[in-house]
Amino acid sequence: MKQLTIRKIKEEVKMHLDQNRYEHTLGVMYTAGALAMRYEADLEDAMIAGLLHDCAKCIPSAQKIELCKKYNLNISEAEQKNPGLLHAKLGAYLAKEIYRIENTEILDAISCHTTGRPHMTLLDKIIYIADYIEPGRCEAPDLQEIRRLAFADIDECLYTILCASLEYLKSKSEVIDPLTEQTYLYYNERRI
Ligand code: FE
Ligand code: FE
Repeated sequence: MKQLTIRKIKEEVKMHLDQNRYEHTLGVMYTAGALAMRYEADLEDAMIAGLLHDCAKCIPSAQKIELCKKYNLNISEAEQKNPGLLHAKLGAYLAKEIYRIENTEILDAISCHTTGRPHMTLLDKIIYIADYIEPGRCEAPDLQEIRRLAFADIDECLYTILCASLEYLKSKSEVIDPLTEQTYLYYNERRI
C-alpha cells in the first residue's frame, strides 16, 4: 500500500495527540525541514519523521506496555521503570504499520529520537535536534546558543544537547536509558 501524504498523516496524527503535543509535533516537523534544507538531507523524509516522531506519546503508559508486548517490541529495564521512554520505539512501529512508512531511515530516526544512538545518521541527528530546539520549546537552558549551533555545526550541536540532556536526567534522578549514556560516550570519545 502506498505511503500516506504529509497532509493525510497530519490529519491522522492530530487525532491521536493532545493540543500541546500536536503543536510541538508541527514545530519539530518544520524545524526538521529547515535543518534538512541546511544540511541537504531529503526534505520530505525529514518532515515526515518530525511529524511522526511523537505519534505514540499520548498513549497511556499501561497501554504502551501492553502494545509493546503485543507487537513483540523488547522492553528494557529502564523502559519498564519509565514507560514514557517506550513512545520512541512504539512510535516507529506505528509509523510503519499504521502510517505505512517503509523507509527504514525514517523509522530509525523516530526510534532513537529520545536517546540518540552511536553512529547517528544525518536524519537521526536532524530529528533529535529538532525535537530539542523547535520554537515551542522554552525550558532548556542555553537554547538560543543551541539553536544557533544547530544551523552552524550539527555535530557540535548534537554533542551539546547530549551533555545537557544527560545532566538534566541526572539532576532529576530520572531513569536513564543506557542508550543515552552509550550515545554520549560514543560522541564524547570522538571529540577533537
Ligand atoms: Fe518524544
Ligand atoms: Fe518530541
